[in-house]
Amino acid sequence: MPVNREAYQQIIKELEPTKATLVAVSKTKPVEEIRELYDLGQRDFGENYVQELAEKAEQLPKDIRWHFIGHLQSNKVKHIAPFIHLIHGVDSNKLLEEIDKQAIKNNRVIDCLLQVYIAKEETKFGFEESELANVVVYDSPNISIKGLMGMASFTEDMEKVRQEFRSLKEIYDRHAVLTANSTHKSAKFTTLSMGMSSDYRVALEEGSGMVRIGSLLFGAR
Ligand SMILES: *Cc1c(COP(=O)(O)O)cnc(C)c1O
Repeated sequence: MPVNREAYQQIIKELEPTKATLVAVSKTKPVEEIRELYDLGQRDFGENYVQELAEKAEQLPKDIRWHFIGHLQSNKVKHIAPFIHLIHGVDSNKLLEEIDKQAIKNNRVIDCLLQVYIAKEETKFGFEESELANVVVYDSPNISIKGLMGMASFTEDMEKVRQEFRSLKEIYDRHAVLTANSTHKSAKFTTLSMGMSSDYRVALEEGSGMVRIGSLLFGAR
């Protein structure tokens, strides 16, 4: 299935006034389709699987900014550590420590977002808000905690989705202030990643700074 160019141009237009970044989620889609969007100017792409991401990155232009948006297992960090642009789903201290270790090995700083559990009725990965205070004090020259990421409930009930995004934005704002004033250098909030194909408009209305959109661009998986 070809890339939906019309949808792409329309989303770009919608994002312009919001200054939000589009991450094109290309999981399970072939490199030819990624290249098609690349040729239209898209540079940020998101993937969920380590092996798939590593293989695609090898075949595609080096100025692509690769986002890891899936659930990352600690033992796989090493495969993406040399090149990953942003890891969205950091959901444990153990994972953060492993990313740090691999960042040191690669002599670079790795940017991360902490995943926050906002979909109350679903089992999804992430920190509870009460745990964040202990994580944002993480202090390492090789880790940069850029903000938060969250996924709303999988539901048609957009009011519920809106409430979840709103609460994530509030959590983000509180910690943005805390981290701006703290002496810990790893956490400096600039990025709130929320919204996908089905709910990105609501996410933007609630203050998202980064949307992760797959099926609207590449078709159903
Ligand atoms: C797959 C995925 C997306 C994109 O989902 P679409 O509904 O295809 O837009 C966004 N975020 C995460 C974390 C995903 O796993």
